[in-house]
Amino acid sequence: MSAARDHNLRNLLAPEQLRARLERESGERITLSFYRYVLLHEVVALRNELYTEWEALSVLGRVYLAGEGINAQISLPTSNVERFRKLVDDRPEFRGVPFKIAVDGTAASFLKLTIKAKKKLVADGLTDGAFDVTNVGEHLTASAFNDRMAAGATVVDMRNNYESVIGHFEGALLPKADKFHGALKEVVERLAGQQAEPVLLYCTGGIRCEKASAYLKHHGFSNVGQLHGGIIDYAHQVKREGLDNRFKGRNFVFDGRMAERISEDVVSTCMQCGVVSDRIANCLEESCNLLLVQCEACATKYNDCCSPSCREIHQLPGAVQHAWRKGRVTRSTLTKAISDPDELRQRIREEEELLALNGTLHPELTSITSRPISAP
Ligand SMILES: [Zn+2]
Ligand SMILES: [Zn+2]
Repeated sequence: MSAARDHNLRNLLAPEQLRARLERESGERITLSFYRYVLLHEVVALRNELYTEWEALSVLGRVYLAGEGINAQISLPTSNVERFRKLVDDRPEFRGVPFKIAVDGTAASFLKLTIKAKKKLVADGLTDGAFDVTNVGEHLTASAFNDRMAAGATVVDMRNNYESVIGHFEGALLPKADKFHGALKEVVERLAGQQAEPVLLYCTGGIRCEKASAYLKHHGFSNVGQLHGGIIDYAHQVKREGLDNRFKGRNFVFDGRMAERISEDVVSTCMQCGVVSDRIANCLEESCNLLLVQCEACATKYNDCCSPSCREIHQLPGAVQHAWRKGRVTRSTLTKAISDPDELRQRIREEEELLALNGTLHPELTSITSRPISAP
């Protein structure tokens, strides 16, 4: 395939154009996800084929392909779902893969279509071949999961700390780690000596449990169950079958919606002031971008920022902000979350004091603000 054609197989529009395009759409969109561990060959060629086919159906979202399978989080016009289903089923490697429909998926979840060829579907930090990844746990329906929970099995949340903070199963073990690899090690450590006891795993859509259950079994756990289809499908089954909902709060999702509400319970507190809240947001100071739980009142007070020092920058005229950021390292776009609210509150207290004393938290700003600034 020529370089010129490859060039067309990706998004070339700016975010404003993407947003405008989405707003011009008349019909409804549906958000859905699916994954399958399956041996794929010629991943780059497949990636280009899928991009062409799916773009034609106005699919937006984030898709990962690897030699070990596919993981897709997408939105598409409801009117195209049937044709999309057929496209997917026409490929033997993806035939019949279950779609998990988002619980409140009508809001704009994605702006563009990205399909990436990667080495692995889930960045697990594990060495290939270290254990048998096909020796997974028992896949459980929502009702079976509830039954085993009621019978006393240990429930383990396989997601990162910033995901489980705003919603989780009642009584679940919540790893403190902010990466999958760390969570795996932590779970094995915390459940040491309980290898013979029943363990239940869950995650957002089920994909991380495929690896996690095999990892636990490799470490001697003999009775491992996993929630099939994850929290997303649990919520659907609960509704459809009138089951008892044991998941409290909101389900963190990796798209523009940030989270979907599964129950009315609020299980977390504002990381800045401590009131009950499960509103999550990224610090709006773009060189920071930290993810935090922040109540409405604090969002107003801190100008949608994580701290007084970020607020101070964020309040400056655009041109000054631009000059200040020049040459500074900005945080990567990977999700970075605040994991220690006490530390954050301490930092806020110290910054408020310094601010009252000096009038600024960034003394180096005076050199920027005192000279004329040309528009960027
Ligand atoms: Zn607050
Ligand atoms: Zn910040």
